[in-house]
Amino acid sequence: MQAVSFNVTIPGYLLGKGLGKLTESAVFGGLSGLRYGNITEPSLPADDWVRLEILKAGICGSDVGTLTFKTSPAMEPFSSFPAVLGHEILARVIEVGGAVRSVEPGQRVAVSPVISCKMRGFRAEEECPSCSTGWPATCEQAGEQGRILVGDEPLLRGMTVGYHGSLPGGWAERMIAHETQLFPVNDSLNDRTAALIEPLAVGMHAALGSRPFGSGPALIIGSGPIALGAIWSLRAAGYQGEIIAQIKRAHEAEIALSLGASDVVSPGDEARQAIVNTGASGYMPILGNEVYAGGGFPLILDCVGSRQTIEQALRFAAPRGRIVMLGCAAEIRKIDLTFMWARELDVRGYVCYGIEEWRGERKHTFQITHDMLVETGAPVQNMVTHVYPLAQYQQALSTAATRSKTGSIKVLLDPTAR
Ligand SMILES: [Zn+2]
Ligand SMILES: [Zn+2]
Repeated sequence: MQAVSFNVTIPGYLLGKGLGKLTESAVFGGLSGLRYGNITEPSLPADDWVRLEILKAGICGSDVGTLTFKTSPAMEPFSSFPAVLGHEILARVIEVGGAVRSVEPGQRVAVSPVISCKMRGFRAEEECPSCSTGWPATCEQAGEQGRILVGDEPLLRGMTVGYHGSLPGGWAERMIAHETQLFPVNDSLNDRTAALIEPLAVGMHAALGSRPFGSGPALIIGSGPIALGAIWSLRAAGYQGEIIAQIKRAHEAEIALSLGASDVVSPGDEARQAIVNTGASGYMPILGNEVYAGGGFPLILDCVGSRQTIEQALRFAAPRGRIVMLGCAAEIRKIDLTFMWARELDVRGYVCYGIEEWRGERKHTFQITHDMLVETGAPVQNMVTHVYPLAQYQQALSTAATRSKTGSIKVLLDPTAR
């Protein structure tokens, strides 16, 4: 089958670091570790696995970051290469193993890319503490080979499909998955909406983790799908306070408002006015940026993770406020952490999704996200700005990587299109 794979090597890493400063076409072109071509499909490794036909697969900021070598190498021991990329996946079930009970052929499913101890072939009593409590996103055996065989080889190390050497991700015609990864999609959700369940679940996990909600206001920093999705997630999770979205471009602002933002500000003067409106007074230190006292935001979601946004969040947070890190912040030089202690801030990171408390039940974040999409009918599909056939992956990546030029928000690959 046709697939887009990526290989990480030390020469490639160093070359990529250099190329990253040149054009994205060099990075996504022939010089990169990126390959499009035929790969061998794995057979089902056990009778509780299924084969899927991929309908849509998203391009995530972390994919662009990996290909341009902007992500930190810190997570490399929890991945394996060469890997078929793609972890935002909508698929159709085409083959089920004999023990599969939860899905049947023909069903559309959202696929959780997270690899659990169970999928690695470990028995229940061998599961790590994270997996045994419903949080395989922090699986403590992600750096180890599994016991299950894929082909003739033990399952390679790795945290998620999409950065995994034995289990192809979504930038391919087909893939295999364990039945616990699959969440059947209601007919009322179209493909574009259902393809967003993975990135929306990231925001939903952070929103649910930010309960109990105070009265606000909340500040969401970022213009991409995670930030826009977090606005929707906060509302879907029951947040009733004011939500200020700090956004760069007009079409993103429109979507932010349609998904529940109370107001939209651009970075800089408008954002400054927003913190002043909370009752804050500004003070100019002898050197550096303005600082504030009084007012502030009790909840800030930083969905960018740059030095500028982290420093802004630290300065804009109310005393004992919470800063949620959703932007895959990595190596950042020279950051002033003063307000972390001077305002007793709670800085909290989130990764992926897992089993949450919701309406008196324990449910997976994917299921909650899916159910709330059905319940709210929110126009999240407006985030999908571009859809490309798989073979046009280079153009798709280039479009995703140059948002200010192309106006892209979420770019999808469609392996069923020619
Ligand atoms: Zn992602
Ligand atoms: Zn585990």
